[in-house]
Amino acid sequence: MGRKTTHKFKAEVSQLLDILVHSLYTNKEIFLRELISNASDALEKVRFKATSEGSENDVAPEIRITADKDAGTVTVTDTGVGMTRDELMRNIGTIAHSGTAELTRMAQEGKESLDALIGRFGVGFYSVYMVADEVTVTTRSIEPDAQAIIWTSDGRTDYKLQELDEDLPRGTRIEVKLKEDMVSRFANEAALKNIVNKHSNFINFPIYVADERV
Ligand code: ADP
Ligand code: MG
Repeated sequence: MGRKTTHKFKAEVSQLLDILVHSLYTNKEIFLRELISNASDALEKVRFKATSEGSENDVAPEIRITADKDAGTVTVTDTGVGMTRDELMRNIGTIAHSGTAELTRMAQEGKESLDALIGRFGVGFYSVYMVADEVTVTTRSIEPDAQAIIWTSDGRTDYKLQELDEDLPRGTRIEVKLKEDMVSRFANEAALKNIVNKHSNFINFPIYVADERV
């Protein structure tokens, strides 16, 4: 295993996370829609690469969701492009999307629903902190010889990165450690199936919840 390094979120990201963590907003289930949407984008990128470079896509494109009641976790795994260390830092870490400060301001005004704002400003990943105490992203990029890397954060002020020695399959696994009061609601495969059907029925890749195709 590589050395574990700690990185501070950019100020705008911290501010946004603070809003999401403390939101009383009830439609918390949209976190799953956002994670599935990112998984789908990552699979779309593999498809595009395979077409444009004539490279072979040897891994079946799929999104798998599991829940563990005892551990209080929900995990979303995809066989998409994955992320390198740099991409992880750029996409879900230090550098906020340009609209983050604007979103924060609008969320504070409260005129538009957080759900609409999250979708519109493309900050979907962070919405997971409405339900999570801690999130662990384990990913290996499609880039040749990419090393697997693990990102972990409680969504407060910083995140940790560590390179892994294991030869993981390409793609991304997002483990959501649910807040205590979210466990019965979301660490529940029947409930997850309903949420997938409700919010993600337009996704063009197979989605499995506990090995059952949804
Ligand atoms: P958006 O999807 O609008 O770009 P998000 O906050 O949902 O915003 O995600 C931020 C970025 O993180 C994505 O653009 C992508 O680069 C990266 N990302 C998130 N999830 C994944 C994933 N499962 N596989 C690969 N990259 C991902
Ligand atoms: Mg997204």
